[in-house]
Amino acid sequence: MPDPQQLLHTLKEYFGYDSFRPLQEKIIDSVFSGNDNLVIMPTGGGKSICFQLPALLLPGVTLVISPLIALMKDQVDGLLANGIQAAFINSSQTENEQQDIYTKISSKEIKLLYIAPESLSFLDAVLSQIEVSLIAIDEAHCISSWGHDFRPAYTQLGYLKNRFPKTPVIALTATADKATRQDICNQLNIIDAKQHLASFDRANLSLEVRPGNKRIEQIIDFLKDKPNDCGIIYCLSRKTTEMLVEKLKSQGFNAEAYHAGIDHHKRSQVQEGFINDTVQIVCATVAFGMGIDKSNVRWVIHYNLPKNIEGYYQEIGRAGRDGLPSSTLLFHSYADVVQLQKFANTSGNQEVQLAKLDRMKQYADSLSCRRKILLSYFGELIEEDCGNCDVCKNPPLFIDGTIIAQKALSTVARIKEQEPMGTVIDILRGAQNTTTLDKGYQNVKTYGIGKDIAWKDWQQYIIQLINQGYLEIAFHQNNKLKLTTLSKKILFDSEKISLAHLQEFEKIKQANIEQIDKGVAPTLFEKLRQLRLELAKEADIPAYQIFSDATLKE
Ligand code: ADP
Ligand code: MG
Repeated sequence: MPDPQQLLHTLKEYFGYDSFRPLQEKIIDSVFSGNDNLVIMPTGGGKSICFQLPALLLPGVTLVISPLIALMKDQVDGLLANGIQAAFINSSQTENEQQDIYTKISSKEIKLLYIAPESLSFLDAVLSQIEVSLIAIDEAHCISSWGHDFRPAYTQLGYLKNRFPKTPVIALTATADKATRQDICNQLNIIDAKQHLASFDRANLSLEVRPGNKRIEQIIDFLKDKPNDCGIIYCLSRKTTEMLVEKLKSQGFNAEAYHAGIDHHKRSQVQEGFINDTVQIVCATVAFGMGIDKSNVRWVIHYNLPKNIEGYYQEIGRAGRDGLPSSTLLFHSYADVVQLQKFANTSGNQEVQLAKLDRMKQYADSLSCRRKILLSYFGELIEEDCGNCDVCKNPPLFIDGTIIAQKALSTVARIKEQEPMGTVIDILRGAQNTTTLDKGYQNVKTYGIGKDIAWKDWQQYIIQLINQGYLEIAFHQNNKLKLTTLSKKILFDSEKISLAHLQEFEKIKQANIEQIDKGVAPTLFEKLRQLRLELAKEADIPAYQIFSDATLKE
């Protein structure tokens, strides 16, 4: 096994770095000890060194399984530029080109061989003639349908361990939830793998969630503050990316679209333009960004709600890889949730996907520190609230929401759970439109009892009720609002419920903005924080639990 001095020397000589990042050295030691390893490190954390550096010092070749041709090419180009013998094999090459590479491998000229899982079978004959010292499986979450980028060809990789039982495997991913981790190890036949879990905290990313109305105007405002910063806008559909590019261009912004429907040539043009700072804004579907090594992305916007937290975290993780402050903004729209629910219904593993989408929605709706939710999702707990998310910057006040809840739930009960949210709100507010009048809802006993609350606020309150499990949406029945077993407790057992006071919330927000204008912002924020901490101390619970959804439920 190489000594620490030798490792550092190699790091400096080939990669130009003076020191290892947290965990890198420990992982490399573990590889040299012959262990199988699962590395979970956020995007940009420095996973590649964990197999590239051992590859240099091991006697044989290191096989690297990688999901995208563009990714492979980038990495191989980078390695060659550093004087490291590397090559890739994929279906875009001619037979001659491939033969050339096989010859080089046989004569031990190549240290790292990148290959797409689909192309592994080409290698079969060659593999039996060469010494494979290490097998690296990059973006290993692709193997798991529990993860977020499932690639069927990855599921065949389990055979590698059978074929090379003595060769250590190192699987690497930025996806950290426990179920996916376990699934990766099971499928790769490396159940005794050492797991290395790096911190996922990216304190330099500010987190913000806003309601998704007037998104384009909001984005243009957001961008006007950052005329020279580059960033990515993630969208759910190809059409949206194109629409946005058109709108942004008409406002004079330098934006390009990127999605799987755009031809290969144009796509790599956009990608290179972005990397070289000639394209400022990329409006993309999730196809964009996997493995892109650009350190100065200053912001990431999600135009639509992502499917799950892993995807979201990986996507916002593309901002601020240089460690400098960067902004992230997520638009939360109810229509997106419904859309994503429909997607989940048509693709495999529906239950898991819906549950993950639910977590995503809870995150977006959260009234407690968002970073805490993200990190706890990845199994990491932080003591203090982060102070760098919108909730920390404007913490909500809670009120006794029992009466609000009673009004909403009894209305749903009286109309026999036959209407979607919009109509329920119309009835509560006593709206005189065709929907309410045609169906005779003016005769419902609760008609108009919620006049005092604005339509938009009702919507927010009802979403809070849904999130707390007091109402649910029947997605297969035109999204009608339904009562749940919990509703009974409010209607009949006089159970109390807390809701974030929206008007109060708005007032605080406004006051805070005014204070920011006067340059004295921290006072109010600090006061509220202090209050929270005191409450927490008194009750002897972690501060964040005071305002968390979980506490409200109990
Ligand atoms: P990941 O695969 O985890 O997303 P990469 O391996 O692509 O991350 O590394 C991200 C960036 O960090 C790259 O620019 C890489 O050169 C840099 N990096 C990796 N290790 C170190 C180190 N020890 N010191 C300085 N920079 C590093
Ligand atoms: Mg990587």
